[in-house]
Amino acid sequence: MDCERNLQAPRRRCGEAGSLCRNTIRGVVPLALRVLRRRVTPQSRVPGGCSLTIGATGTSRAIGLDGCSMKGGTIGRVIAMVIDIHAHPFCKEATVTPDVQEAVKRMFDGLEPQRREVVQKGFTYLFTQRSIEDIIRDMDGAGVEKACIVAMDLTTHYGVELVTNEDVARFASACPDRFIPFASVDPSMGRAAVDKLVHAVKDLGCRGLKLVPPVQHFDFTDPKHYPLWETALELGIPVWTHAAHQRSHPDSDARLGHPMLVEPVALRYPDLKIILGHCGFPWPWDTWSLVIRHPNVYVDISVFHDLYGYMPWDAYVKYGAEDKVLFATDYPLRGGFNDTLTALRSLNLASDFEAKILGENAMRLLELG
Ligand SMILES: [Zn+2]
Repeated sequence: MDCERNLQAPRRRCGEAGSLCRNTIRGVVPLALRVLRRRVTPQSRVPGGCSLTIGATGTSRAIGLDGCSMKGGTIGRVIAMVIDIHAHPFCKEATVTPDVQEAVKRMFDGLEPQRREVVQKGFTYLFTQRSIEDIIRDMDGAGVEKACIVAMDLTTHYGVELVTNEDVARFASACPDRFIPFASVDPSMGRAAVDKLVHAVKDLGCRGLKLVPPVQHFDFTDPKHYPLWETALELGIPVWTHAAHQRSHPDSDARLGHPMLVEPVALRYPDLKIILGHCGFPWPWDTWSLVIRHPNVYVDISVFHDLYGYMPWDAYVKYGAEDKVLFATDYPLRGGFNDTLTALRSLNLASDFEAKILGENAMRLLELG
């Protein structure tokens, strides 16, 4: 990808004369491939046309993300389509409020100084050196076709926002083939949170809600949050919630991440799609119980790939829930895309189940094509 070249040369977008885009490829790939629900390798895959205006840093300029040019050339081995249901677009084009240094200080104040310094350096690097182009490049390198990119609103507890709803909407409108924007609101803000979600979905085009109860310090079961669930239901968007303990934030409350707290909401709103994030660790069986009992509850496999041996993979299949397990990474944290993909593939699950996890289940859940 060459920003400067793209700035000067007229960008060719999918469908324009002379461009060779994914849609074109789709038209010539034998139907049998699609019947087999497979996509071509990243080497032959074609990124969608993307353009982005950077506004968060105060300067506004257009960059292009390698239009629709063909990469590689030969169609190689056939692999399953990969959709990451939970990724963070930490990059210099994103907004951090009040600023990276202060945000890290507030969020990780309780860490021992040495560890906090590592976290500070990591976040500073991500938000000053990495670009949205790097994220696309990482996706291409790992063969991830689409990613749900999430905002994070931690206003009440920390006075921090790590990527805003406007950011994820902007990135997704620049790269609609690659990014699906998930908004974040702080449930403790009550009516303001509801209004913010409505704005994010109706005006900005966000397509999901991301929540982190252990860090946002709210209780899923509290009736005062019912209007938020009702609003998500009305808007027709899934709710992704961190359903695990959280070691990274010293003052997080692990009890609030327990998946069973979702139970009353899943029962009360049977049409509200809820994704339990991060495998539900350290409660994988509670998570499994929710997923197999509630048609509207799903699980994602992000973060704990080093503990996959403790995941009840067979039990998900045995109890008919193989359509409700979703690939996710928490990129760029926990090894990014590749570590999770490698760990999943090393499980040697049945190929149909693996293909469902990697992308088919997300396609259905998110109602993609
Ligand atoms: Zn995350």
